Amino acid sequence: MTAVVGVELPSADYYDVEALLDVRERAKLAELREFLAAEVAPNAQGWWDREEFPFGLLPKLGALQLSAPHRTLPGRPAYSRLFHGLVIAELTRADTSIATFFMVHHDLFVEGLHEFGTPAQRDRYLADAAALRTTGAFALTEPEHGSDVAGGLALTARRDGDGWVLDGAKRWIGNGTFADHLLVWARESGAGDGGTPGAVRCFIVAGDSPGLTRTKIEHKIALRTVQNAVLTFDGVRVAEADRLPGISSFDEARTMLLSSRLLVAWQAVGLQLAAFDVARRYAVEREQFGRPIASFQLVQGQLTHMLGNATASMAMLVQLARLQESGEATMPRVALAKAWATARARETVALGRGILGGNGIVTDYRMAKIFADAEAVYTYEGTFEVNTLIAGRDATGISAIR
Ligand SMILES: Cc1cc2nc3c(=O)[nH]c(=O)nc-3n(C[C@H](O)[C@H](O)[C@H](O)COP(=O)(O)OP(=O)(O)OC[C@H]3O[C@@H](n4cnc5c(N)ncnc54)[C@H](O)[C@@H]3O)c2cc1C
Repeated sequence: MTAVVGVELPSADYYDVEALLDVRERAKLAELREFLAAEVAPNAQGWWDREEFPFGLLPKLGALQLSAPHRTLPGRPAYSRLFHGLVIAELTRADTSIATFFMVHHDLFVEGLHEFGTPAQRDRYLADAAALRTTGAFALTEPEHGSDVAGGLALTARRDGDGWVLDGAKRWIGNGTFADHLLVWARESGAGDGGTPGAVRCFIVAGDSPGLTRTKIEHKIALRTVQNAVLTFDGVRVAEADRLPGISSFDEARTMLLSSRLLVAWQAVGLQLAAFDVARRYAVEREQFGRPIASFQLVQGQLTHMLGNATASMAMLVQLARLQESGEATMPRVALAKAWATARARETVALGRGILGGNGIVTDYRMAKIFADAEAVYTYEGTFEVNTLIAGRDATGISAIR
């Protein structure tokens, strides 16, 4: 319940999805909410305006032990998929940038190592990464290959003695300016010495490797707190011990992207909950024509449209979380949810921005940031169009893309 002008109003989680969690998960979510209210919500706009990443937050975020949602790292509880989805929604509701940081670090870097790394690699990297004493990034997209990166992957990995040499570039890499370690996707080049030219390879690359240059992408209109980088690899040497042996094709990338894409759909839920929270509060407090603007039928229509979008997106993801638990959350099913929920989010945040009138244009009222951040969520982890075509291929049996 939310108290606005003395009246108890229902939660933006209108159908009480949270009630599906077990007691331990609900307590953890409550702890996360308290943390976000104290540490993130009051500061998020300032970080965003200044494009500043809050490094001081990381030990506290690590101490919450949100990691290892569905597999148990030593000493960590295993949570349900629904719980992890709601964690991402809640992080996003407070700040989409912090949620994105966490997803790149945890759901791509940590989970990738967990799934495809050797026991020695896990021993070496995972404990520090899970506690956020070190940070990770996931470097797949390239300057010339975004949507078509599966076939287009151009960064090369050449065998050289007992290691590898990387050459090429990556673009848009979240946490890329500061991550201690990056999972870097490459295509094997060169012939002979028992290699497999053309095979997809993935390496753990130290952020301070000689030959690696990291340049921050400036002037973003969304997720300004996230530090995205252009990475250039000029003869970067990596030991064979830092190659993920479980990865030999793009199928493994798809496995990782399936989980994180589903979480981006949960981000679309979090954005809608945030937009509804802000717009409703504004609508009941702001008066025009001598009455709260929430008393006007058109404004109530807009608010209920926003609530309907958020609730429908959430309902879709609750069932997808169930399918995920039973191994039936296929890529087309995930792609449909990602495309659909992010499109609803774009509509919802635009309605919210309109409800704030002119104050929806300045960042002081939270809504402008929520509005802008929805643009990134619509585009990354497979654009709206590409995810639509993945679902469309499944629905029709005909591929509109290769
Ligand atoms: C804020 C942010 C953070 C990101 N973080 C990371 C990260 O951490 N790691 C990482 O590896 N990548 C990251 N990305 C990259 C992201 O995944 C890509 O931006 C995305 O895959 C789209 O690629 P692109 O930007 O090159 O667009 P393009 O592929 O060039 O697409 C441009 C437009 O063409 C459309 N299009 C392309 N092909 C088709 C088609 N066949 N049919 C119809 N329409 C099509 C697209 O839908 C889009 O509208 C991030 C991106 C952003 C914006």
